[in-house]
Amino acid sequence: MLARNWECGAICKLCDQEAEIAVHPCLQCSYAKEVWMLNIWKERNRRIFEGKSLRPVQVFDMIQDDVKLR
Ligand SMILES: [Zn+2]
Repeated sequence: MLARNWECGAICKLCDQEAEIAVHPCLQCSYAKEVWMLNIWKERNRRIFEGKSLRPVQVFDMIQDDVKLR
């Protein structure tokens, strides 16, 4: 991240627990995992209980909305 001149600190700004390295937000961040897993679980339940399914981009939009609310 520093090599790309992205502003970042030593600690992740999301979970405030782990070092902020490039792979961290995608694979290791407890905050990011919670957002992804919660929305995957919601999509699963939507398909089972409501008989509706969203395209991946629609789920992504919902994830963005979740992040904005935090
Ligand atoms: Zn993190």
